[in-house]
Amino acid sequence: MVQPYGDAEVFRPTRWSRSERDLVLYGAARHANTVGGIGDQREVDTMRRLLVLGAGTAGTMVVNKLRHRLARADWQITVVEPSETHYYQPGYLFLPFGMYAPEQVVKPTAPLIADGVDLVHGEVDRVVADQNQVLLSDGRCLSYDYLVIATGVTPRPDQTPGMLDGGQWRRSIFDFYTYDGALALAKALDRFEGGRLVVHITDMPIKCPVAPLEFTFLADAYFRQRGMRDRVELVYATPLPGAFTKPIASARLGSMLDDRKITVEPDFLVERIDDTTLVSYDEREIPFDLLVTVPLNMGADYVARSGLGNELNLVPVDRHTMLAKAHDNIFALGDANDIPTSKAGSVAHFSVEVFADNFVAYTAGKPMTGQFDGHANCFVESGDGKALLIDFNYDTEPLPGRYPVPFAGPFRLLDEAAVNHWGKLAFRWMYWNVLLPGRPIPLPAHMSMAGKHIPKPEE
Ligand SMILES: Cc1cc2nc3c(=O)[nH]c(=O)nc-3n(C[C@H](O)[C@H](O)[C@H](O)COP(=O)(O)OP(=O)(O)OC[C@H]3O[C@@H](n4cnc5c(N)ncnc54)[C@H](O)[C@@H]3O)c2cc1C
Repeated sequence: MVQPYGDAEVFRPTRWSRSERDLVLYGAARHANTVGGIGDQREVDTMRRLLVLGAGTAGTMVVNKLRHRLARADWQITVVEPSETHYYQPGYLFLPFGMYAPEQVVKPTAPLIADGVDLVHGEVDRVVADQNQVLLSDGRCLSYDYLVIATGVTPRPDQTPGMLDGGQWRRSIFDFYTYDGALALAKALDRFEGGRLVVHITDMPIKCPVAPLEFTFLADAYFRQRGMRDRVELVYATPLPGAFTKPIASARLGSMLDDRKITVEPDFLVERIDDTTLVSYDEREIPFDLLVTVPLNMGADYVARSGLGNELNLVPVDRHTMLAKAHDNIFALGDANDIPTSKAGSVAHFSVEVFADNFVAYTAGKPMTGQFDGHANCFVESGDGKALLIDFNYDTEPLPGRYPVPFAGPFRLLDEAAVNHWGKLAFRWMYWNVLLPGRPIPLPAHMSMAGKHIPKPEE
């Protein structure tokens, strides 16, 4: 609800614990110099303001964790989010195959945000970093002492000629990286009677870089279960030289594609789509009957408008602390930053653990001693009720072994097992009930070598 107040727009968030008056002073009016006459400003002036942009995986975890760490009398925490719905994105993988129902991957945003955090429904239009202000697209203005950018990345089919505008979008070209896309693809798979199905990655980095592989394995199993695998040619077109970014995992996953008679088209960088043919920069052509593409993943456009991003609108940060390289009061967490590890919910989680401790120290004038190591782990669905698990960081590629307990597991690294599949399914419960609320889990944020081994050549 927006109310006119002086020259600035003053707004009433839908839900918060501190008074509206605080936000009026703290936000638009205070920084438009239109405060005069509103209550007692002293309390607000002494409060420090943490503003978080985006209440997805990282933003929700950050505000919920820090609300318990930062005294309410000293810190106002606000999060800006346009969507009334929070989406469990890993669940998008299962929607096209009917393995999850749509309602299993959505929950209302507001109840996921801790009491004592101000949730502002709105869309960020611009960060004015030299004035410590954020402008929303409806004209509201928020000020901050510390800013966390957690607006993630989104698929951008508009960035590839012929993808969105060639007349085939959601006819024979689909994606599963959006909720709507995954649901539309479910219908397309149901209708599919056979032909060439191409799973395609436009360019790296993408969130959950194993998700297209998982989709391909699940598609193989799905068509087998429907008794029509012999009528479907499966092709995996990737800009990488192999199935994955790191050699040991790439060899393992590559041989799984071979076993399933899935053709890999490596080093394929799409330049355009001509009707129902992918065309690469080196003029290779891949015709398709059904294309399941992962469009270019880009950070939010406001990041570019604010002069805070690289060519993909990702915020350059120190890879150990997530502090923006260009600003000492701006951090970028989750997919929104440019750290050289997977864009994954697990990375968001582990890095937020390190960040929360660092932030408390940093804002108390102490050094940030926590060093995020790029720790990522992902279950990789392989079909028929099995999955692999990979666990790695900036320096160590995915290796075989057991996780999290050496020798005991129960999860098996780089190995297909039913227990990993059950772990992946259980993760959804963990996400809603443990990770998002910011509750501690008994897994160290840093990757451990315990339980891992370097495979011998014959393994
Ligand atoms: C198909 C698929 C499968 C996946 N599988 C896995 C998996 O198995 N394991 C795993 O660890 N990860 C997985 N991921 C990745 C994981 O979902 C993301 O890495 C994670 O959600 C990133 O969190 P984030 O907070 O950075 O971004 P997001 O969760 O995407 O949140 C960004 C938020 O910012 C908001 N926002 C955007 N623009 C603006 C704006 N201008 N103003 C205000 N707010 C804005 C959005 O509405 C959104 O709520 C998967 C992702 C996909 C798509």
